[in-house]
Amino acid sequence: MNKTNLTGMTLEEMEDFMASIGQPAFRARQLFNWLYKRRISDVDEITVFSKKFRDELKEKVEMGHVEIADRQISADGETNKFLFRLRDGHFIESVFMVDGKRRTVCLSSQVGCALGCSFCATGRMGFQRNLSVGEIVDQLLAVLKTMDIDATNLVFMGMGEPFLNYENVIKAATLIGHSDGIAVGKRKITISTAGLVPQIKRFADENQGFKLAISLNASDDLSRSELMPINKKYPLRQLIEAAKYYSERSRHLFTFEYLMIAGVNDRKEDVENLKKLLRGLRCKVNIIPYNPTDDRWQAPTEEAIQYFLRELLPLRIIVSVRRSKGVDIDAACGQLYHSHQEQAAK
Ligand code: SAH
Ligand code: SF4
Repeated sequence: MNKTNLTGMTLEEMEDFMASIGQPAFRARQLFNWLYKRRISDVDEITVFSKKFRDELKEKVEMGHVEIADRQISADGETNKFLFRLRDGHFIESVFMVDGKRRTVCLSSQVGCALGCSFCATGRMGFQRNLSVGEIVDQLLAVLKTMDIDATNLVFMGMGEPFLNYENVIKAATLIGHSDGIAVGKRKITISTAGLVPQIKRFADENQGFKLAISLNASDDLSRSELMPINKKYPLRQLIEAAKYYSERSRHLFTFEYLMIAGVNDRKEDVENLKKLLRGLRCKVNIIPYNPTDDRWQAPTEEAIQYFLRELLPLRIIVSVRRSKGVDIDAACGQLYHSHQEQAAK
């Protein structure tokens, strides 16, 4: 008999499950709390359940979807990168980062990615499959159990395009936000998209309370299409229009991420075009210095970053720079996967 996997179930699903085995709804609430808040790994740890009930449950249920295959810790100890093995043998990555009081977990949404951005290690893997709600949530549980601490922030910036696994990502993020469970608030969860126009509009229409980040990465169609092939399908004009659509419907600002690569998109004309694009938009900008994944490109110089910051200053929008952590441990998305494959090939 196939066992029911509890990890990833919502409270309502647990209530249905308990009802199906003749148990009252409060048992589901207890289970939810022990699984997601106390983060147990075994039914036997649920000491509010009688031994008899635990034995009965163990016949019917199991928990967990991921297993730690590798873990790298940066020299400063502030970044932990996890490689997880899924039950079908695929691998995904998550990263735990500490920055002052902020503890962020970066989650994957898919195995690989179909969008093939040229700078991205995940893009090079191609697309394997979507992650289930349980696999998304279990990455977080496994990271938090290992680190033995709560997360303050969550970002869907690991492997994959979250908006191509829209339902599962939203369902997982909603579950993660539940106050009786993992309880990372909606405004502390950021979903990053490469710029899928219909899904940005859907996200706006549904009034999803999570934060939205859009990977802009270039300010003219020619450069953007070279870096991100999805730009051929949804060019900048459409993307900006979708971003405006979102702004008009949401009380919250979205963030444009700008992955900066030396000599590719950090030139004078790039910032000039960027200023034109941003004119009149309500948003924030986050500059992400490129983390080299091969020998083709390099990270931008500090001067180039400072030049962008100076040029963008008069726009009166918040511009931040992500100071890359864990460069020594392949912390950009998809990188640990690749170094693992290389080791396996040796
Ligand atoms: N598919 C989504 C989310 C995953 S990628 C998206 O593209 O937004 C998350 C972020 O990592 C994106 O902003 C992407 O531009 C950035 N990224 C990818 N490869 C990188 C690298 N080598 N160095 C720095 N950032 C990178
Ligand atoms: Fe996919 Fe995002 Fe990587 Fe592009 S940057 S290949 S969309 S994961």
